Amino acid sequence: MPFYDPKKIEVMIEAEALRERIAALGREIGDVYRGQGELVLVGVLKGSFMFLADLCRAIDLPAEIDFLGVSSYGDAEESSGIVQVTQDLTKPVEGKHVLIVEDIVDTGLTLQYLVANLSTRRPASLRVCTLLHKPANCKNEVKLDFVGFEIPDRFVIGYGLDYKSKLRNLPFIGVNVGEGPPF
Ligand code: 5GP
Repeated sequence: MPFYDPKKIEVMIEAEALRERIAALGREIGDVYRGQGELVLVGVLKGSFMFLADLCRAIDLPAEIDFLGVSSYGDAEESSGIVQVTQDLTKPVEGKHVLIVEDIVDTGLTLQYLVANLSTRRPASLRVCTLLHKPANCKNEVKLDFVGFEIPDRFVIGYGLDYKSKLRNLPFIGVNVGEGPPF
């Protein structure tokens, strides 16, 4: 028996599909930034840690890695629209090409805040890469430059995304089904 209840999790994106798509995204990103100067990948904590770990190894460039910690949900499944910064970047990004690496864009409110915040720091360019996008809920016009998968409007867990702070270590993207928690 694994650490989760397989009967209560419907797999939406298998680990192998994640691997393949991320390899392709890495090549795409490498092609855009090659020869352009310094690249900083800014992972948005906590959800993007696993995606960033795999994505950065698929990008054939000497990128810097930094993190921004934000919290917009608490433990609820609905976006509050209030973004709390829990951890700032460790270094200035002025003059560097910044790629924001997100786990998921749902309402887009978190991203809208991040783009506004980072653009005041005078990066050479600012782009966005998200593993998942739920187009159904988008409330703003922030441009997504690289998207792994467009998904339906369901609350997903795993591969960095949490179920009440747990199950970020599931190796695939899934949905909790049936009664009760999936572990
Ligand atoms: P947004 O501001 O775009 O509505 O939400 C962004 C953040 O909400 C994401 O970075 C993620 O932390 C959380 N979030 C949005 N949708 C989901 C989901 O389906 N599952 C989980 N676990 N978190 C989500």
